[in-house]
Amino acid sequence: MTREFTVPEGLKPKMSNIKSVYADGLCMGCGTCAGMCPSNAIMMIVDQKQGVYRPVIDSNKCTGCGYCYKICPGHSVDFEELNKFSTGRQPQSSILGSYLGCFNGCSMDNELCYVSSSGGLVTQLLICALEKGIIEGALVTSADKDNPLRPRSFIARTKEEIISAAGAKYCPVPVNVMLKEIRNAQPGLKFAVVGLPCQIQGIRKAELINDELKKKIVLHLGIFCTHGINFRGTRAALKRMGIKEKQVESLRYRFGDFPPGKTLIKFNGVEKVVDHLEFWNLLLTRRVNAIPDRCRLCIDQTAELADISVGSGWFAYKANKQINRSVGLIRNIVGKTFMQQISSANRIDVLPSNPEALELFEEKHRGDKKCRYRYLLFFLKLSGRKYPVYQSRFLKSKIKFDFKMSIEALKNYLRLFLFRKKHA
Ligand SMILES: Cc1cc2nc3c(=O)[nH]c(=O)nc-3n(C[C@H](O)[C@H](O)[C@H](O)COP(=O)(O)OP(=O)(O)OC[C@H]3O[C@@H](n4cnc5c(N)ncnc54)[C@H](O)[C@@H]3O)c2cc1C
Ligand code: SF4
Ligand code: SF4
Repeated sequence: MTREFTVPEGLKPKMSNIKSVYADGLCMGCGTCAGMCPSNAIMMIVDQKQGVYRPVIDSNKCTGCGYCYKICPGHSVDFEELNKFSTGRQPQSSILGSYLGCFNGCSMDNELCYVSSSGGLVTQLLICALEKGIIEGALVTSADKDNPLRPRSFIARTKEEIISAAGAKYCPVPVNVMLKEIRNAQPGLKFAVVGLPCQIQGIRKAELINDELKKKIVLHLGIFCTHGINFRGTRAALKRMGIKEKQVESLRYRFGDFPPGKTLIKFNGVEKVVDHLEFWNLLLTRRVNAIPDRCRLCIDQTAELADISVGSGWFAYKANKQINRSVGLIRNIVGKTFMQQISSANRIDVLPSNPEALELFEEKHRGDKKCRYRYLLFFLKLSGRKYPVYQSRFLKSKIKFDFKMSIEALKNYLRLFLFRKKHA
């Protein structure tokens, strides 16, 4: 007969927290750990060398419960389980994920169209949700006038606050730190969230084990993302324009008629407006490695786990020369019901789009992240490096050898591990 031995409380090994995730180069800086830690033991700070956010754990507060590790999308994402959780089925497309419908659209408010990135679809959807009483607040990200190069996320509770957050911020933002406010809000209050694919992954992982959070977040708006830009990129772009970081009074990454939109930098009392594409090319200067390392390991292009995903309108423009229109994917019954609920408000101009054409467009212009990752995985495994563990049926099927993809993967691998500055 065997007897179970009970480890005395004080001798129990601590469960893993997310300390190793950053050290292993797997952190995406989403902030989910900081927003959800039951002991408030985690905060996000900027790693100046890498130009991204990183979590820091207060060891006096950490109880070693392992909650942060469980919900962290940095080390692993089970897309099969989370797709079932969020859409009730498995995705039909490697690039687009699971969808019920595809459209392109924009706000019918011209002023709002102008202040947003590509038609103001996201902002208008949130305003409709608020005005219809579907939500009491929305997790959004706006510029911070006290710290112009570090946008801040907050819960917007009025139309004006939602509009103040319009426009993409092409830099790291630990959006999910604000989940703390949603967690602490009164039971029964309902919220929408807006996030990049990695941020939505964190939210879904947290909802999977936190029923209260799941009940409070009634609408997930995801935004497409090929990669982020680290703060080194912003610094380099400003430098090439002859502007020092400390001179900057405000930076609007993208607004105006799309495509391509404009970028506005206010410094030393002077306003400088440049074509957005010109600024984007300055951001992406190769010499400073402006793409966060972790983005090279990301396999989600279209925020697959959102209820509705929105991307910039290059597709609508290239297909039909339509300006100021974003493209949208309705993924599940939540997204579909929401679009029906707000249709009578007549605030959004919506036209149906062809998902197959969108898929081809994304593949041609941005590539298939999952396919790219599979090639990269070969090199990562060969060298025994740490990599995120993903469950997705699109990573399982056999692939044919492709010379160009192998060279691209090798280059990515070299950029990641030979030339990178070590994560402290
Ligand atoms: C880093 C980044 C990369 C992107 N890459 C692509 C891409 O490869 N392909 C593509 O089609 N589209 C991409 N987009 C999305 C695109 O730029 C627009 O944000 C999107 O089309 C929505 O436009 P809109 O006019 O409807 O949004 P708006 O009405 O302008 O609203 C934008 C919303 O995005 C939120 N937001 C802004 N910045 C961030 C941020 N950094 N993190 C989280 N939330 C934020 C704001 O809270 C706001 O609610 C990217 C966006 C970002 C921030
Ligand atoms: S939850 Fe997000 S911020 Fe925290 S360690 Fe994981 S990836 Fe990084
Ligand atoms: S590429 Fe992926 S990890 Fe990087 S910012 Fe976009 S969604 Fe997040």
